[in-house]
Amino acid sequence: MQKVILLIMDGLGDRPIKELGNKTPLEAAHTPNLDALAARGICGMQNAIGVGQRPGSDTSHLAILGYELDKYYTGRGTIEVSGLGMDLEEGDVALRGNLGTVDDSLVTVDRRAGRIADTGPFVKDLDGLTYEGVTLHIKPGTGHRAGIILRGPGLSSRISDNDPHEVGVKVHEVHPLDGSAEAAFTAKVLNHFLNRAHEILKDHPLNEERRKEGKPPANYLLCRGAGYYKKIEKFSERYGLKACTIAGGGLYKGIGAFTGMTVLKVPGATGMANTDISAKFEAAIEALAGGFDFAFVHVKAADAFGEDGDFQGKKAFIEKIDRAAGTLLNLPHTLLVVTGDHSTPCALKKHSGDPVPLMMVGEGLVRPDHVAEFGERACARGGLGRLTGLMIMPEIINLLGLAPLIGD
Ligand code: ZN
Repeated sequence: MQKVILLIMDGLGDRPIKELGNKTPLEAAHTPNLDALAARGICGMQNAIGVGQRPGSDTSHLAILGYELDKYYTGRGTIEVSGLGMDLEEGDVALRGNLGTVDDSLVTVDRRAGRIADTGPFVKDLDGLTYEGVTLHIKPGTGHRAGIILRGPGLSSRISDNDPHEVGVKVHEVHPLDGSAEAAFTAKVLNHFLNRAHEILKDHPLNEERRKEGKPPANYLLCRGAGYYKKIEKFSERYGLKACTIAGGGLYKGIGAFTGMTVLKVPGATGMANTDISAKFEAAIEALAGGFDFAFVHVKAADAFGEDGDFQGKKAFIEKIDRAAGTLLNLPHTLLVVTGDHSTPCALKKHSGDPVPLMMVGEGLVRPDHVAEFGERACARGGLGRLTGLMIMPEIINLLGLAPLIGD
């Protein structure tokens, strides 16, 4: 059977930049391997959510993997905790957490507690707290982060963040976002846990040590992005493809775990500009040889350069991807799909709704078009036309010859 590699370069799309001769970073980058692939494949443009819609990275990935957002997306928390290896049960509410620093009046001094390296020794004293039939489960993430699950009957994710997202203001009370009894109950329970957590953390011996060392104490749990977990159909059941995820960033491992893929550990995959892209591509090729049918490979840093407005950095990182992409040139029996999740134009320093280039490459699988360059304007002339994210998996399934016949 044919195999699939889906390579998503985060924040890939951009707008023309004067200093780059009115080219985008992707167009200005020297990318002989990606261009050679485009020449052999069929190209197009895609908007992960829809034309004019500005996608988050969580929603765009779910849509590209074929999951309807109205059915499957309730908030980023469920995806983030999945990425930490926390098992979700139907009815759980999951949140992203930070350990931060507040003063005696609960005014935020540092949202990341001096970028504390490990929240593990702090959050272990919070894990397992109970209140009104609800249990708090909490696990350290990378650095100052943690994953939080509320487990018990009658919960809702329709609650606000307590994270004020800025320093110098008081942490927010969590409040319900709709009129339901469940949202009111969840807000009450979470406020209770947050107060308890502060009482436990403020006198924590490790915080005494931090104060002595002149470091800000990790004395408050800031949380955001509540999501409600409903069991979802696994990717392998949905498409009949045994799938794995290769990613450095926590959110993307989370996307893989959330959709039931096997998340592979790849040494050197960091989710940052220093990531070992060759190691990721090699791991994908090995995974397909070893029995997986579908490898979702995520590369993050182009998005971060876009958010910094660093078009030279973005261009250089795309060239780094291209150098590693030599190993993808001659994959036997493989459909290679390359795209971004959204545009992050350097001029805007944030995600935009501009469409992103897409190519599908596989000898004997696709009808090549006349596009010979992987870039925004070149791909806009391609044979795939303009797709939405939800159209990508059906097209992959069709190219693999696995689409069911409609009618007779
Ligand atoms: Zn993204």
